[in-house]
Amino acid sequence: MRIYKVGGAVRDRLLGKPVTDIDWVVVGATTEEMLAKGFRPVGADFPVFLHPKSGEEYALARTERKSGRGYGGFTFHASPEVTLEEDLIRRDLTINAMAEDDQQNLTDPYHGQRDLEARLLRHVSPAFAEDPLRVLRVARFAARYAALGFTVAPETLELMRQLSDSGELEALTPERSWKEISRALMEDQPQVFVEVLRACGALKVLMPEVDALFGVPQPPAHHPEIDTGAHTLGVLQQAATHKQPLTVRWACLLHDLGKGLTPEQEWPRHIAHEFKGLKLIKAVNERFKVPRDCQELALLVGEYHTHGHRALELKPSTLLELLQSFDIYRRPQRFEEFIAACEMDARGREGLEERSYPQADYLRGAATAARSVAVQPLLEKGFKGPELGEAIKRERLKALKAYKETAST
Ligand code: ATP
Ligand code: MG
Repeated sequence: MRIYKVGGAVRDRLLGKPVTDIDWVVVGATTEEMLAKGFRPVGADFPVFLHPKSGEEYALARTERKSGRGYGGFTFHASPEVTLEEDLIRRDLTINAMAEDDQQNLTDPYHGQRDLEARLLRHVSPAFAEDPLRVLRVARFAARYAALGFTVAPETLELMRQLSDSGELEALTPERSWKEISRALMEDQPQVFVEVLRACGALKVLMPEVDALFGVPQPPAHHPEIDTGAHTLGVLQQAATHKQPLTVRWACLLHDLGKGLTPEQEWPRHIAHEFKGLKLIKAVNERFKVPRDCQELALLVGEYHTHGHRALELKPSTLLELLQSFDIYRRPQRFEEFIAACEMDARGREGLEERSYPQADYLRGAATAARSVAVQPLLEKGFKGPELGEAIKRERLKALKAYKETAST
């Protein structure tokens, strides 16, 4: 049997990037031989094994043939006769279809190295169109390597467009889509992911609610960039620049969905967009079975981001309602993430990227004031049940009034 490094490890070494996980392909072996060498089988669908010591993935060289819709619609053929070239041709991009032996001899039948130099994300063969997930993968790689100058080859973008128009994207499972979306959002240029999806018509299929924001104007006084889609991309970019976690990035992407519902005659104003957007945020959350923490933060940021921006003007009672909605007593981190998302929203505007955001510290101070109310003295006074709740609220309100007064002097 012959063993080669493939995929990302070869690509990233040639790019001079750190290699994190290594994928291997094994040519000329049978499942029985692999098991005899102590490899552990994984995955019911493909002949993939884990190395007994390193735990890295070793896949038998295989060919694929499309036999139906979606991911399940593939038949695989693995045997000792399948060649390295045959295995490489089923891969998505030329830069991902190179292999290397233990002497670092490159096998590159589809000119991945040439495309690396040309900074092009190009499909290997027309079979690219057989797996719609590749549309998301290419957009994700575009986001990852945008800073190096990579773009999607026009003919690959055209194939992605055909795939998006064909309805095949709808056959993707929520889990597979979310895995790509979440990884793409964590790249340095996540806005490129959204741009590429939009350029090939996939955004309209996957997240029509986000697609609808492009072409919707906002008041230039607050939004020099005017376009709501451009603003959303700017917010996402800020979130990446400021190394925000996935929860915040997801909330940034969805925070203004309500603006896509504003009747044209109301443009560029968006009255009550925060509330109107909630059902859209919920729909996108459910479509991709998004993890709970991301779902929650997106809904809260959608509903309350304008409150965040107006923090210094809020009445103490409104401020208290905001803090209560976030359950800041038990969920301090979630409130921090809300503040971060608001700040990214404020900075994701053309020319305002470096502005200060005093609302952030003001909100933190308010949360500290509300949390400082001690329950014990109220218990000692004999408050119980719902009355205790009311008494705590009254004390917190007092604390917030005092906080607002000191903060404004
Ligand atoms: P990363 O750095 O994100 O791990 P990678 O290129 O190693 O990038 P993997 O998802 O680990 O990506 O996949 C390893 C290799 O398997 C890819 O480089 C590619 O050759 C191939 N591959 C993975 N998924 C697909 C797919 N859906 N269609 C075609 N080829 C794929
Ligand atoms: Mg990999």
